Amino acid sequence: MIPHPAPALSAWPVVLPPGPAGTVRGGARRARRASPAATAGCAAATVRTRLSDPDATLGRTMNVSHIGPPEPLAQRLAELRGPAPQRSLNARALAALAANPGCRRRAVLDAAGIDKGAVAQRLGRPAPFGQSPFAIARGTMFESRLKADDYAVLLEPLRRHLGLPSDGAAPLAVPDLLRRSGPAVRAERTAAALAEAAADPSAWTLLDHPLLRLTVAGSPAYLEPDAVVVHGGRCTVVEIKSFPVLDGSADPAKVGAAARQAAVYVLALQETAAALAGTTVAPGPYAVQALPGSPELSVLLVCPKDFSNRPTAVSVDIRRELATTRRQLARMTAVDELLDTLAPGTSFDLAPDQAGLPTRPVAELADAVESVPAAYGPECLSSCELGFHCRAQARCDDRVEQLGRGVRGELGSIRTVAGALAAAGPAAAAGDRESDEAAARLSYAAALRAEALGGCAG
Ligand code: SF4
Repeated sequence: MIPHPAPALSAWPVVLPPGPAGTVRGGARRARRASPAATAGCAAATVRTRLSDPDATLGRTMNVSHIGPPEPLAQRLAELRGPAPQRSLNARALAALAANPGCRRRAVLDAAGIDKGAVAQRLGRPAPFGQSPFAIARGTMFESRLKADDYAVLLEPLRRHLGLPSDGAAPLAVPDLLRRSGPAVRAERTAAALAEAAADPSAWTLLDHPLLRLTVAGSPAYLEPDAVVVHGGRCTVVEIKSFPVLDGSADPAKVGAAARQAAVYVLALQETAAALAGTTVAPGPYAVQALPGSPELSVLLVCPKDFSNRPTAVSVDIRRELATTRRQLARMTAVDELLDTLAPGTSFDLAPDQAGLPTRPVAELADAVESVPAAYGPECLSSCELGFHCRAQARCDDRVEQLGRGVRGELGSIRTVAGALAAAGPAAAAGDRESDEAAARLSYAAALRAEALGGCAG
């Protein structure tokens, strides 16, 4: 088993494979660039978005369902969303959500299942990011190949890493998980299949695309890992990714993202096992849950080997990611508490016309978005569809958050870039320097810089 980030795994060099994957990455980088119209200035430009576009945002491509919580909370969230279809939460989104638990804006919009990409489009600051269609197609093809012919190709890594007997003495059972049913039914069926498989320690069971329920900020999300193998009363998440492992090396960023995503699945499995046992998940983030059907704290990552379609697998220790995810999700304020802070009548409805084009006045929508506090950081640009909009707001307000959370923390009570510059300048009041440690440090740094530059000039 390779822990993550273990030295060996972390030391894997960043690999940019040529061919289709390289093309994809280039395309993704281009897609992440904001258009000048979208990023220039602070006024939101009006962009007509076809809401019926199935590929309008990333969420459509993910393998997760999210249905509303019971009344009346569901009613309140539906009012925020309007008639638009509810968007899915997924493991990637949850990992990103957990990475910024202080952002109430994202928490509310995600809980309500609002299409943040469409909102960003309407506000004039779309932020296209995520997997390209090519990468998604490549991943789908690779997974299909692994699972074809009764999982013939997938069996090899399962034998090598999980100990599945190769002599056929213990056949791999694959129960029907009712994939055509609704999320609630599928989640119930998954829980039943997990309990059944865990009850026979000698059996080997593969849950193919199980659906797991996870409560996030008081709202249920449904997550769908690629596969879960159950044996000996415990289970292991199998995460299939399309990025290649070349000569034993993989892109560390992608391995890390896969580990964070898998940690969300493990957390959902812990909740499922606890629910089956009629208890709750143990509070200790590093504690190994001993309940029947509980997940191992390492996951099996299966990727293409080199440039072939043959699989290679590695066991990834996700304890650190699991602890982080649990801590961050637990810190998130319950959604109903967030809703209580909204002004009556607040709505993110884009009011689409018959052609699916939004008609909601941009200024009105911007006011609604603005009414929910955000916690912008530069990381948002690669993890949230509203990243460009929130960055523009931070720039307009001259907030220090635009420089990163580290700088924000260092500057203490100084909240604006202008304030920081003033504190460092010669005109800063002596009283400010004495009363504010950050101001004093800025002033000292400015003096050192001036001295150094003066020395150079001399
Ligand atoms: S981009 Fe905005 S809404 Fe999204 S997480 Fe960042 S601050 Fe929150």
